[in-house]
Amino acid sequence: MLLRKVLLRGASASRLLISNKSPPASLLPLASGCTRFFSSSSQSEGPNDGFVAGQEGGDEQPPATITVDRSGLYHPPDHSHEPTTESELVKHLKGIIKFRGGPISVAEYMEEVLTNPKFGFYINRDVFGAEGDFITSPEVSQMFGEMIGVWVMCLWEQMGQPKKVNLVELGPGRGTLMADLLRGTAKFKSFTDSMHIHMVECSPVLQKLQHQNLKCEKVGNADENGEKSSVTSITGSPVTWYSSLEQVPSGSPTIILAHEFYDALPIHQFQRSSRGWSEKMVDVGEDSKLRFVLSPQPTPATLYLMKRCKWATEKEVESLKQIEICPKAIDLTHTIAQRISSDGGGALIIDYGLNGVISDSLQAIRKHKFVSILDDPGSADLSAYVDFPSLKHTAEEASGEGEAPFWEGPDELAPVGMGTRYLAMAIVNKKQGAPVPFQ
Ligand code: SAH
Repeated sequence: MLLRKVLLRGASASRLLISNKSPPASLLPLASGCTRFFSSSSQSEGPNDGFVAGQEGGDEQPPATITVDRSGLYHPPDHSHEPTTESELVKHLKGIIKFRGGPISVAEYMEEVLTNPKFGFYINRDVFGAEGDFITSPEVSQMFGEMIGVWVMCLWEQMGQPKKVNLVELGPGRGTLMADLLRGTAKFKSFTDSMHIHMVECSPVLQKLQHQNLKCEKVGNADENGEKSSVTSITGSPVTWYSSLEQVPSGSPTIILAHEFYDALPIHQFQRSSRGWSEKMVDVGEDSKLRFVLSPQPTPATLYLMKRCKWATEKEVESLKQIEICPKAIDLTHTIAQRISSDGGGALIIDYGLNGVISDSLQAIRKHKFVSILDDPGSADLSAYVDFPSLKHTAEEASGEGEAPFWEGPDELAPVGMGTRYLAMAIVNKKQGAPVPFQ
């Protein structure tokens, strides 16, 4: 397996806020062939949620007080979004904490808040655009999806123009990227004829919107579940929906796209305390409000923390007071790398992140403003920077070749003044060679 990565020019905010109306300059460096992946200069720029937490456990350790500087952040006026009555999701979260007899991890909180099948942020509504909570590159300009289309076509050519390709998009939002990709490539019949589109989307509302935006029509006979298959009238390609990548049929060459998908995967947060690394958890306080606490004992996610620290230098870890890890991102990348290894093809992952250990990046955005992470959960997006080195190491391990064919490009090609937050990484099957523009 070959891995290729490139750094794209980045916006400094972790989602594109609506005020950021400029077209996605992000793809310009990619088109000009820049091939250097930069590490960030600072670990502390991600907006974080201020909190003060007492250490739990009641042993002889003095209580640790953690304060986080939030002076640079947006301060919501007097918590005007505070619900007057407790939302169903808050009741549900408190129920889990009560039933468990103790706090839940930030990852579990994040997963419930974003994708709880009944109350999750993404589940019941369209959260994108000026009227929604945040905006993404495909929604800013159709050029974004068209450029990704060029990338997919180039990879397909390198793959030897196979007659059948599974084109998978993870977390397609409104379906805009895929619609623009298909419109942009529609004239290349042999390409579009080979494409079988697979949309991995957990939200039924967004699935419907994707169906509309891809101008899908139902065709053929109903299957055993009474479902007819869908075909996009943009190119005539079949389109199918799933809630996870594992459900997408394997056995054909596969191209996987993930734009702003990884940043929605649940992260665990660890805090340096007098006991070493303690996991930050979400609990219910005496005032019956949600609050952060530190776990008094090691948690299962500590295993992933140890793995992550092994991929970093001692100096890098020593400099940090907090570390975020994303086991789901690691597991997903493993699945992607294995599939590409067995079926051929490649993956393009574009997201906000760092080429280094992520310290404290989790943020909540509602109506284009940063808000507190625990404030009215389910009504704001939660996202965290993507830990690209973890994805890189995972894909290398999955390739099973004992070497690390990860290539950063010759130093002299390193672009000057590139953004350090909006990053792209490609994972491709070694047989095909390096994809454009990662050569
Ligand atoms: N790629 C789109 C949307 C990004 S937002 C764009 O760039 O505009 C994240 C998307 O991933 C949403 O469509 C959300 O519903 C979906 N999503 C988040 N977590 C998911 C999960 N665990 N499984 C499947 N889809 C998920």
